[in-house]
Amino acid sequence: METMYDLIIVGSGPAGMTAAVYASRANIKTVILEAGAPGGKMLKTMEIENWPGVTHGISPQIAYEMHKHSTAFGAEFKMGEVAQVIVNENDGKEIHLTNGEVLTAKAVIIATGTKERPLPLPNAEKLTGRGISYCAICDGAFFRNKHVAVIGGGNSAVEEAIHLAKTSAKVTLIHRREGFRADHILLERLEALENVEIMRNYVVDEVLEAENKVAGIVVKNVLTEELLTLADVEGVFVYVGVDPITAMVADLHITNEWGYLLVNSDMETSVPGIYGAGDVIDKKIRQVVTAVNDGAIAAESVKHQLS
Ligand SMILES: Cc1cc2nc3c(=O)[nH]c(=O)nc-3n(C[C@H](O)[C@H](O)[C@H](O)COP(=O)(O)OP(=O)(O)OC[C@H]3O[C@@H](n4cnc5c(N)ncnc54)[C@H](O)[C@@H]3O)c2cc1C
Repeated sequence: METMYDLIIVGSGPAGMTAAVYASRANIKTVILEAGAPGGKMLKTMEIENWPGVTHGISPQIAYEMHKHSTAFGAEFKMGEVAQVIVNENDGKEIHLTNGEVLTAKAVIIATGTKERPLPLPNAEKLTGRGISYCAICDGAFFRNKHVAVIGGGNSAVEEAIHLAKTSAKVTLIHRREGFRADHILLERLEALENVEIMRNYVVDEVLEAENKVAGIVVKNVLTEELLTLADVEGVFVYVGVDPITAMVADLHITNEWGYLLVNSDMETSVPGIYGAGDVIDKKIRQVVTAVNDGAIAAESVKHQLS
């Protein structure tokens, strides 16, 4: 049986949850669909230190508070993974879930964020959860007093290396270039830590395994091609980029060549009634503060559409 909504929000990260607050306060019949835990990537960060007005930083607890807030004015929350968004002949939006359920709405906000790009090595998938991880907050405790490697040069890699250095015996950050994309303040903090080594111009050439677990890594200097084995590395934390989660709208041709949703300043895609918000859209800064901005604007645009 189909359930008809004014608005379906796909994803309950900060973008989707903010959209839900704005939409439900405007009396728009809204449901938020979420494939995992409400909170999105905020659950993967130790502390949000760049939220204006909170100098001491915000803990991931903000995810739970936002979740409560997102349903406080009447929006429904429903677990479910969206497989496809279809525009039917009446311009209605059909949302097909992976469990076969179909929901319909007059408007849809896609706020699905991004997923981590895997380490491009043959045994990376097999060793995920067996020494290879994409979330230090989730898995860092398994590597207490051990040597771990962090791969990447952006904010996520540097933040997570700082976090891991508190409990691991040693952290080696491996970055393929000389310069970092990460914020200067984070890099300075990392460089000041005694149990951190930064290997610039290196990539991971091989992840060694024994008994189905990570048992060291081989790194390669990209300038000299020299190989080096770090035999005691037991954990590998990967932050080598992300890809947008937009497969559900692949047939609608509303993404750029990398799969990010193309929206205007009102968060509208080129398909009337389909909006984008948060990390999933084509934009320069992917942060909580910009995600909540997008969510608020998208909901206001839906309000306009429905009025
Ligand atoms: C380690 C780390 C540290 C960070 N630190 C900071 C920081 O200090 N400050 C800061 O401002 N930002 C930080 N960020 C970035 C910030 O977390 C993101 O920019 C923000 O969470 C993006 O919000 P979003 O709502 O667009 O997407 P997300 O938070 O990614 O939420 C998207 C949601 O959509 C759901 N979803 C995806 N696909 C589907 C589907 N098919 N069906 C249903 N649901 C789906 C996901 O499960 C997820 O819950 C950090 C990120 C990471 C990874």
